[in-house]
Amino acid sequence: MPIHEKSLIRPENLVEHEELVIDGVDVSGHWSTFIEGRSVPDYNEQLQEEIAAIGGGENIHRCWQCGSCTNACTVNAINPDFNPRFWIYLIRMGLEEELVRDRDIIWQCVSCNKCTYACPRDVNPEGVMKATAHWLELKGYTEMKPSMVFDEEFSLQVFNTGKIEEGKVLQKFFKRTNQPLTQPWLVHLITGLVKRFPVFYLMKLGWGAVFHPRTRDWGRARDAINEYVEERNAEIHKALNLDAKGAD
Ligand code: SF4
Ligand code: SF4
Repeated sequence: MPIHEKSLIRPENLVEHEELVIDGVDVSGHWSTFIEGRSVPDYNEQLQEEIAAIGGGENIHRCWQCGSCTNACTVNAINPDFNPRFWIYLIRMGLEEELVRDRDIIWQCVSCNKCTYACPRDVNPEGVMKATAHWLELKGYTEMKPSMVFDEEFSLQVFNTGKIEEGKVLQKFFKRTNQPLTQPWLVHLITGLVKRFPVFYLMKLGWGAVFHPRTRDWGRARDAINEYVEERNAEIHKALNLDAKGAD
């Protein structure tokens, strides 16, 4: 039987015999192509609940598999293997092993939110992608990806000072991800600003980059946020059964 949708089959599941003669007919190579049977040895029946416990994944149960998210997806247009609808399906079915096979692609979501606007069921696929990437890290399947490092630095700025210092966030992000501060796009941006901005605003920007005033009376709000974050982290760890396994 011809394989109509070869692109949907993983290459490792396609097998060919280099030399094969059946009843005197040479069916070597392409002519002997067959698809290996897929067996699922294990299910994680809690997988949907685990993703739903992480921020962004709450609405995953609403998905009806229409595919609008994948159709609208920026990354899918470049890489057809990036398929939010398919991963949501795997999660809902508890197919953890299948999901983990795509661990090197899932984190590549650029958070453009086109999928979220296209979704007719308010699933928030962008949030589900973020939650899934975070889940992969928490479960130890992947190391912390740059986007998560950025999120962490961004949040730390808010917790510590009550405001965002873009320069500081970028500086710390580049340091933690071992990237040079002189990124070509950053140099381009700064040169563009210098050429176009009035001197007064440039001085203001420079002042802001050197001095970092903290938000006044931030202590109580910070404590409340920290308390909430700790509670949420405890809930996530409980949902993923991380403490029981000693993973953290
Ligand atoms: S937010 Fe991520 S999953 Fe959604 S369209 Fe953009 S790249 Fe694709
Ligand atoms: S657009 Fe929404 S409902 Fe449709 S497959 Fe994607 S997440 Fe599911």
